[in-house]
Amino acid sequence: MSHNTQPSDKALVPFVSVDNMMRLIHHVGIEQILCDLAAYIEDDFKRWELFDKTPRVASHSDVGVIELMPTSDGEAYGFKYVNGHPKNTSEGLQTVTAFGLLADVYTGYPVLLTEMTILTALRTAATSAMVAKFLAPKGADTMAMIGNGAQSEFQSLAMKAICGITSVRLYDKDPAATAKCAANLAGTGLDVVICKSPEQAIEGAQILTTCTADKQCATILSDNMVGVGVHINAIGGDCPGKTELAAGILSRSDVFVEFPEQTRIEGEIQQVAEDFPVTEMWQVITGAKPGRSSDRQITLFDSVGFAIEDFSALRYIRDRIKGSDFFFELDMLADPDDPRDLFGMVQRAAP
Ligand code: NAD
Repeated sequence: MSHNTQPSDKALVPFVSVDNMMRLIHHVGIEQILCDLAAYIEDDFKRWELFDKTPRVASHSDVGVIELMPTSDGEAYGFKYVNGHPKNTSEGLQTVTAFGLLADVYTGYPVLLTEMTILTALRTAATSAMVAKFLAPKGADTMAMIGNGAQSEFQSLAMKAICGITSVRLYDKDPAATAKCAANLAGTGLDVVICKSPEQAIEGAQILTTCTADKQCATILSDNMVGVGVHINAIGGDCPGKTELAAGILSRSDVFVEFPEQTRIEGEIQQVAEDFPVTEMWQVITGAKPGRSSDRQITLFDSVGFAIEDFSALRYIRDRIKGSDFFFELDMLADPDDPRDLFGMVQRAAP
C-alpha cells in the first residue's frame, strides 16, 4: 500500500485479495462469472497461435508440486504460481492454492496482482464447461461428479450455466466431502443425487467428471464403466505419476487436450505412447478439426490446466475491476525522479 515517502502521483498496482475475489463473485453472480470467464477463455483459444507457449515449470517434491505457468499474447504477459499437494487437506490446508500477475509487455510493468486459488477453481470449471459445450452429447442433462473436493461445486455450476446440466450425481471416497458438496449445491437449481459408489454415480450420466486428488496412478473410472456416447471431463490427473483413468478408456476415446507438449507429461495420456493421437482443443473451437462426430463416440477432455486459461482469467479480472472497489493498490514499482537514480530514491525514506 502507499506510504508517506511516496509522491502522490506514483503508479500503483491493483491487487485483488481473497476477500475482494469473494465479494466480486457475489456482486457478479457465480454462474455469470463462470459464463464470462468461459467467453474470455474461448476468445483466447481462438487466438491460440499468437501466444508464447511452454509446458509449465514444475518443481516436484515427495508430497506435491509447485508450478509456474507463464504465457504472453505479445501485449500482456501473465503467470500463475500454483501448488498441488493432495496431502494438504488432511492438515487443514488447500490441495491447490495460487496467485497470479499480469504485466504490460511494452513496459514490463505489472498491471495486476491477484489471488488465484478461487480464480483457478472458476477458470478450471469454465474451461471444462466451455470444452463440454463442443464435445458433450447433444441434450446432455446429467453429470457424474467424482471427487467432491474444492473444485466440485464450481465444476457442477459451470456445467449447469454453460451446458444446461440439470442433475449432478456426486461420489467421493470420503462421504463428508459429498455431504459438503451437496449442501453447497442445495438451492442452486441443480438436482443433486448422493451416490455410494462411482458405478452408481455414472448411471444415466452423459458427462463424467473425475476430479480427485491422489498422488498416484489411480483408477477412478475402469474400462467397463465407460459406455458409448459419453463425454469424460478428466480434471484430477494433472501431474507425472498422477492419473485417474484406466488406460483402456483412452484407446476407446477421442482425446482432446489443451497443449499436447504439457499434457503428454502430466495428463492421462502419460500412460500411452508418445505418438498417441490427440486433438488440440483450440482447433475444434476454430473449426479446423472436428469435435464430437457421432452419438456413439466417447470424447475425453484430458485437462491439465494450461497457462492461457489463467491469462484469460487475469485479463477478465483486470477488465472487470476497472472503476470498482474490488481491489486495493500495492506499492510494487520503484519510481526514482531520474530513472538511473535508484539510490537517490532510497533517500526519500531516510530518517
Ligand atoms: P481436493 O483435495 O479439495 O478434493 C479432492 C477430493 O478427491 C477429496 O474430497 C478426496 O476425498 C477425493 N478422492 C481422492 N481419491 C478418491 C477416489 N479414489 N475416489 C473418489 N474420491 C477420491 O482437491 P481439488 O482442489 O478439488 O482438486 C481435485 C484435483 O483436480 C486435484 O488433483 C487437482 O490437482 C486437480 N486440478 C486440476 C485442474 C486442471 O486444470 N485440470 C485445476 C485444479 C485442480
